[in-house]
Amino acid sequence: MTQTVDTLLINALVLTMDEKLTQYSPGAVAVNGDSIVAVGPEDEIKKEYSAKETIPLASLKGGIEASGTIDCKGKVLMPGLINAHTHVSMTLLRGLADDLRLDVWLMGYMMPVERKFVSPEFVQLGTSLACAEQIRSGITTFNDMYYFEEDVAKATADAGMRAVCGQTVMKFPTPDAASYEDSLAMAREFIQRWKDHPLIVPAVSPHAPYTCTAEILRATAELAKEFDVPLHTHLAETAFEVDNMRNENGMPVIPYVKKQGLFDAKVIAAHCVHVDAGEIRTLLHAGAGVSHNPSSNLKLASGFAPVMKMLETGLNVGIGTDGPASNNDLDMFEEVRLAAFVAKAVTNDPTSLPASQALLMATRLGAQALHIGHLTGSVQTGKRADLILVDITPTHNSPSFKRAADNAYSQIVYAGKSTDVSDVMVNGKWLMRDHQLLTLKEDDLLAQAADIAKNIDAFLIEREQSVLSKLIALGGSLEQESFEVQVKVKITETDPIIQAMKRPEVEVIRQRHYREHDVYFFFDDPTQGRLRYREDDFVDDVKNIVTNVRARLTLIGQKREGEFENEVLLSRSRYLAPAAQSLRFYREYFKPNSEVQIDKDRLRWQIKYKDTEFFINLDKVTEPELGQFLEIKSSTWSRKDADNKAHLVSELLSLLGASGGKTVTKDYIDIVSENQ
Ligand SMILES: [Zn+2]
Repeated sequence: MTQTVDTLLINALVLTMDEKLTQYSPGAVAVNGDSIVAVGPEDEIKKEYSAKETIPLASLKGGIEASGTIDCKGKVLMPGLINAHTHVSMTLLRGLADDLRLDVWLMGYMMPVERKFVSPEFVQLGTSLACAEQIRSGITTFNDMYYFEEDVAKATADAGMRAVCGQTVMKFPTPDAASYEDSLAMAREFIQRWKDHPLIVPAVSPHAPYTCTAEILRATAELAKEFDVPLHTHLAETAFEVDNMRNENGMPVIPYVKKQGLFDAKVIAAHCVHVDAGEIRTLLHAGAGVSHNPSSNLKLASGFAPVMKMLETGLNVGIGTDGPASNNDLDMFEEVRLAAFVAKAVTNDPTSLPASQALLMATRLGAQALHIGHLTGSVQTGKRADLILVDITPTHNSPSFKRAADNAYSQIVYAGKSTDVSDVMVNGKWLMRDHQLLTLKEDDLLAQAADIAKNIDAFLIEREQSVLSKLIALGGSLEQESFEVQVKVKITETDPIIQAMKRPEVEVIRQRHYREHDVYFFFDDPTQGRLRYREDDFVDDVKNIVTNVRARLTLIGQKREGEFENEVLLSRSRYLAPAAQSLRFYREYFKPNSEVQIDKDRLRWQIKYKDTEFFINLDKVTEPELGQFLEIKSSTWSRKDADNKAHLVSELLSLLGASGGKTVTKDYIDIVSENQ
């Protein structure tokens, strides 16, 4: 008497991906409810198990558990692939901005678009679309990090996939939270509501050490520990990140996050490209899992993760696609192949990361890296039935050799394509049968995605037309609807002016010495104005050292507002922003058609004259060599104040004994531009 099960899969080449990499051919798998109840040689399994009546494919829509006996016709039956790191909702941003450096891509494009468009509906649609793509490519589990993660969880559960869903927490305002405290509260509630779900493992995701404070890292680790859920984060992705961490905290990334108690939680660390042997051991001792993301690392030129060292040390290393905006697809067949190829190339050794080991990373090791190895990742009795069937007979994958066990892995890894996946089961339920998706309506999803793409296109087209709107899109810029009055005089000596500053009519509030490095960006359309990136190095004259560096961006209008007597200029309103990114970032983001650099050594006095504040600058322009100048500037005034007080500038000019000098009515940049 045989035991009756919901589904009996027979006539398959079963790759179990268990500890011994056991294969059965012809093999069979018995599935009952959500679990695998038996796996082995077909004749043995058939002796013990039989299935209920076979259910026709036509009635499988919506996914179904009991499907009777299924003849796999010699296809490979293996565990579903584990996508160990992604941001699935970003399917809706796929191909939006490519061939950019990580910071320009993230801060210049992704984040501004996300601030404008990402909503619970956006996330659900993006997730459903990603589930369709992933099911088609044989993925049964993914590890996600995004905003509105509860909506990712809902759409994923509706599609029938398994996922670790991490609610993002970072120090900036995000599309779903005004502050990190809000995201942390969202994460807590999300975890409480979903922690016993059969498909979803809720998690918390501090985005990365460079987008989080030490306090956020500590708080998220405590939350993850409290509920015993994973903590998913990006670690040591770029050399730039590691260099900054060393400069700011005197240590690389892994020791830093360890110091913040991150490893008290079950960590899933994406990337780990720039880690040394000691850091790999720290990750191992912390029981952390790692996601290796070869496409993302290659496309963003982040470097090559020391995957072989990690595996040799014993780390659980999975493979991830990363988000579809930086890959640009969710194709694990491509990732596994790349992982194998890259490992061989960087070690200069073709025996590195053989096909079986690469596939192991995409299955059992990946599940272990996500801390759900007890549930999925291999075809073993007691695990959930997360299975796929892969056809290894198409033209691009023929013929087949049976001589060695490794032949099967070679076929899957080196010649298999995601489109060869014909059937997908998750948690005992079919999500795809014979290439037909059973839980998702692709056509509807694609039509909705096309509408969103149209809106995002319109938003970016408008933004890209104006330097000002691009500046504002970065966040933090400040519009100053104010006026400045200024005069500039070319001088030969500075001493008489410094002496004149001691006159009783002049009250010195503050004096500073700094070096100013200005880079002006010019654009094709001169009405856009020009953008100045200014770095001020504050100099301590006693110690002769730079004590502080400040960088600012200023968008300067082209037009002069007016002129008073003695060529005292009235200048225009300006847009100011602290320059949080590097000069290189702004160059790549604003794409100026030309640049001019001006360096000067500046002695600056903040003074009061007749109850009005002014700045007196004594400038020595060193690059290009323009000579020395006296500049008198008002603080920012209203237009009315400018009219009433402009004469004070002329008075100061005579008081400082410079009224006889040659007045220059232009900014340095104008002088330089004209002489070029
Ligand atoms: Zn990522």
